[in-house]
Amino acid sequence: MPDIVTLGEALIDLVSTKSGVSLEEAPKFLRAAGGAPANVAVALSRLGNSAGFIGKVGADPFGEFLFHTLSDEGVDTTCMLSETGAHTTLAFVSLMNNGERDFIFYRDPGADMFLSESDIDTDYLIDCRIFHHGSISLISEPNRTATIIARRIAASAGAVISYDPNIRLSLWPDPETARKGVRAALEGTDIVKVSTEELAFITGTDDMDKGCSLILDMGVSLVTVTLGAAGSYYRTVAVSGQVPGFKVDVVDTTGAGDAFAAGVLAGLLPFVKQSRAICDLDKEDYYKILRLANAVGALVTTERGVIPSLPTKGEVEALTNGTIFER
Ligand code: ADP
Repeated sequence: MPDIVTLGEALIDLVSTKSGVSLEEAPKFLRAAGGAPANVAVALSRLGNSAGFIGKVGADPFGEFLFHTLSDEGVDTTCMLSETGAHTTLAFVSLMNNGERDFIFYRDPGADMFLSESDIDTDYLIDCRIFHHGSISLISEPNRTATIIARRIAASAGAVISYDPNIRLSLWPDPETARKGVRAALEGTDIVKVSTEELAFITGTDDMDKGCSLILDMGVSLVTVTLGAAGSYYRTVAVSGQVPGFKVDVVDTTGAGDAFAAGVLAGLLPFVKQSRAICDLDKEDYYKILRLANAVGALVTTERGVIPSLPTKGEVEALTNGTIFER
């Protein structure tokens, strides 16, 4: 069974081939596998970890494409299921001139929303060391209960619970419901990854230290905050610090957050395997973990698309060792 299991949406990103335009203006779209938890599983596998994905895709050609993409990347798809009641979710995306993304989901409903409690295989989670999910699978039932039950099973089996809210407000009924839903999952979470905007949205404060402390007060052991080109910040009850990012030639920042999340989990796994508690790790340990995560995030920005640009362990080592290399 895989060491790290991610649960949530695997979907099709249809990315505008022309940058700097809105979706209304986009002339053509390129198909790519996507969905944050699926991206994280592939990123972990590229980095040499054993990763599995739990989720539903449609019984359609796009679902087949996602099955093949994940399994070709070495992700365990034993618990990736196919749903006949809805199509695979689609997300149309365009990168605009201001760096923002214009996107719209075709998920009315999407197959990923149908993962239910009865789809969760307890045996699959029994050896899991880290269980990771986002908040899109928490928006509606039966997906929400399935996510909560799966993480409860993993936690009871001793897994570390990792949560990347990855907030997509357009998928929630309204912002207040989103805030409540996203916050509720912090209870029982060991490690959380947020952007500065998400931290402010969740905690109601723009002060990063204060926001992280509020999250730690909810019982979370480690908060990581992504800071784009500036790198990342972390805080536990014992230690905190900022780790600078790597200078790279940026082409497309899509998926940097997912890559970073995978880097944190890959960096933490050896400690988890040694049964070291997250709050017992010191500044040096966290520097190494976040440096790895920053490198994975930075490398993804150097090429277009998410999955094609995810780095291997060797590429990450080359960047962190300062070796010059060509991608
Ligand atoms: P999110 O999707 O969470 O907002 P970010 O865009 O901040 O994620 O990116 C995640 C991580 O990827 C950052 O913390 C950083 O380590 C790396 N990264 C992102 N953008 C850049 C960049 N322009 N240059 C170098 N590293 C980057």
